[in-house]
Amino acid sequence: MSPAWSYEANNSNGIKVVYPKSESSIEAVSTFLVGQVPINSNLTCNGQSVRVNQSGFFAHVVPLHYGANHFLLLDSDNGKTNDSRIDWTVFRKPPPKPISAQELKMEVQKPNYDLGVTSGNIISFVVRATPQAVVTVQLGPHQITLTPVPESRQSSNNDVAYGKTYRRYDLNESDLYKGSYRIADTDHFASIHPSYKLTCHNGNLSVLGKSAISTVEHLYIARTIKAPTVVRLGPGLARTTPLVEGVRVVIDGWSGENMRCVYSPNRHVWITKQNLIMESEKELPHNMLRMDKINPDTLVPQAVAQTINILDDSYGEKVCLPLSERLPYQIEQKLNPNCLIMRVYGVSADTDWITNEPKSNDKEGSIIDHVSWRQAEDNVYEVQVYLSGKRQWGYHANYDGTTLCLSIKHPPTTTADGTLRGLKICLDPGHGGSETGSIGCSGIHESQINFEIADKVKTYLEDLGATVIMTRNVQSDGPSLDDRVKIATDNQADFLVSIHNNALPDGRDPLKEHGTSSYWYHPQSMELAASLKKSVKEASGFLDLGSRYQNLALARATAMPSVLLEIGFMINPDEFTNLIDPQFQSKIAESIANGIKHYFYANNDSKQ
Ligand SMILES: [Zn+2]
Repeated sequence: MSPAWSYEANNSNGIKVVYPKSESSIEAVSTFLVGQVPINSNLTCNGQSVRVNQSGFFAHVVPLHYGANHFLLLDSDNGKTNDSRIDWTVFRKPPPKPISAQELKMEVQKPNYDLGVTSGNIISFVVRATPQAVVTVQLGPHQITLTPVPESRQSSNNDVAYGKTYRRYDLNESDLYKGSYRIADTDHFASIHPSYKLTCHNGNLSVLGKSAISTVEHLYIARTIKAPTVVRLGPGLARTTPLVEGVRVVIDGWSGENMRCVYSPNRHVWITKQNLIMESEKELPHNMLRMDKINPDTLVPQAVAQTINILDDSYGEKVCLPLSERLPYQIEQKLNPNCLIMRVYGVSADTDWITNEPKSNDKEGSIIDHVSWRQAEDNVYEVQVYLSGKRQWGYHANYDGTTLCLSIKHPPTTTADGTLRGLKICLDPGHGGSETGSIGCSGIHESQINFEIADKVKTYLEDLGATVIMTRNVQSDGPSLDDRVKIATDNQADFLVSIHNNALPDGRDPLKEHGTSSYWYHPQSMELAASLKKSVKEASGFLDLGSRYQNLALARATAMPSVLLEIGFMINPDEFTNLIDPQFQSKIAESIANGIKHYFYANNDSKQ
């Protein structure tokens, strides 16, 4: 993890502050001055003693008041020279001022995007305006009165992730108004703008909302044009299974650039406009208002599932579902029972056969125990793939023409000599290029430390017989996150391990919060994440921050177990002292290689 603070103060003084940059603006209640002084310095900050570790590194937490905060760092043991003092200024931006009862003012906060809505959808209105007023919204023929929301019901969380903190002044009277409207069957809006009206003792005010609201009078059909196309459960919200290109979806609404796709009457997902190409909307008659009014013979994406075929390939085994067109799907992984569930939307069942290739029929060595199907609900076809091993090693879905294939990875096989021979491991040294990650106490960047450690892991793994693929081979390379995952997937790697070092946002304390942690996203990677964290933590001797679920690009790979490691904290002086030590780096690298080996040989039922 790394906030966007990769800059360094290159002053020639004996006191060096690498974070924050002087004259920078911070919104949190506190920050930390991170830097370096000559060994055995006696450093103070505004007269207060600063803890400096044996290598001369420090991270000193300072509270921030609104406006300019001045810090005088003084090294009293070197008091005779010019290098012994440094003035540092950090600004804390005051939060936005509330609207006072004396002002006549109204700011529309929501909706702030164009909306395409259908019957039953709820539109939320949020307005900041003069307290003790009557605020109404005119939406077509409807007038909605907004309700003042007491300040106590508003979030006052001042520790939002990575330095972005918004905290408003405490208020006796709220300037916040909220309301909502549910779209009715009889509503027909063609790009109308809500009109807001405020009435109070100071006078009246009218504001026309920027967001254009339309009722979706007919459905739109679109096709995905990118692989992977990111699919979300709400505009900007959590991800679900990404799609490949050429998948046809039904669209029944939008919020700004996010298009709402109908998977089933009970399941909507969102895809950005940039990932879709619209099919001619004239193909659908304009009087078709809703899904239930569509004639089954129109161009709505749909297919009938007949045979399910189980085939072998170089990756493992695949479950193939021939369809007449590319339809959307979601994949769910479960470890107990050990199975993968694939839901395909727009599909009705006429399945009489599940066929196996001869090799797969032979239970011995087959990854798939059995496959079953069910019609989960109207137009939702579900394939359940039960697996025979103790572990899952990866999967990916793709279309071959219009046949949907769920490929399941064959477990890599262990060897009698206990090495990693035959194993392909992808190592990702986090960040690189212009993306330098977090900054360490000396000004060195995380991307460099990550690379140095990953390079040593490579040597240990190769000594154990493994083939190692690096996502970047020189320190100047900086492939995108998607490209890093693609490198691992295209190479059919058996493991993907991303190596990082951590930092904290402003408002936190690097002397109290630090340690080793690991991150997984799919259940198949949970055990590996725990195994690697345990191994690295034992080697580092750092605090144990655990093994956690987190939505990180490098942990989202499905084709192999993939884990992101945060070895230590760049801004914790003691951890940083270790992280730049080549011997310590070797010890950590060895522990990562051994962690992979331990995981691989424990519970592996796929012996050669
Ligand atoms: Zn990082």
